[in-house]
Amino acid sequence: MCRMRDMLETRKADYVTGSAMMEPNVRIKTNEQGFCYRHFSMMIRQGKRLSNALILESHLQQISEQLVPPSPGGKPDKKRMAALETLLHDCFICRDIKENMENMVRIVHAMWISEPEFRQLYAQQKFICLEHFYLLMNVDQKGLGKNLQAFYEETSRLTGGYLISLKQDISHFCSMFDYRNIGGEWGNSKDSIERSVEFLTGDKILSEETEDEDSAEALAEQGT
Ligand SMILES: [Zn+2]
Ligand SMILES: [Zn+2]
Repeated sequence: MCRMRDMLETRKADYVTGSAMMEPNVRIKTNEQGFCYRHFSMMIRQGKRLSNALILESHLQQISEQLVPPSPGGKPDKKRMAALETLLHDCFICRDIKENMENMVRIVHAMWISEPEFRQLYAQQKFICLEHFYLLMNVDQKGLGKNLQAFYEETSRLTGGYLISLKQDISHFCSMFDYRNIGGEWGNSKDSIERSVEFLTGDKILSEETEDEDSAEALAEQGT
């Protein structure tokens, strides 16, 4: 599910700064909805400078005219402030991904019910992140019919089971800073911070080389 999301948003960021540039309907929406930081960053990385500037030009213009005129005359307008609040939490690409992912969930449900091979593949996932657990459990439950309980069990195993192992790895990581564990084995705990963030947010954090320098051993050496 995470990889699907990554693919969708990369494609959409290309589309917005590429072929959609000439589509007035898309521009009307991007002017209105804007983008979140994550997707602005992608657009700037993936798209041409000029494309981004043109999108921003009309977006800024619209905000200026409709929401934040330089001399509004009078008190803060409730409607304007409400519209501004919406804009601050809105994003054209996020909206699109949400719709697409909801359709994806319906497909996952249907395939899980009808295709044993898919069911097997599903069971072999390393884990399902928290966000996609939520989606899989909440979008169109009716589609699962009498399979709801079995699907819930299986998905909980993939999310809840992984959560337990993450928690253990994090606890192990913490314990490595105890002087009683000097020279102990890190086991799977070294990248447990990065893996926890990935589980919680659905996004990979680049793991910096976590050296033993941080451990109790090193702390003892430094006299801290
Ligand atoms: Zn995910
Ligand atoms: Zn976004």
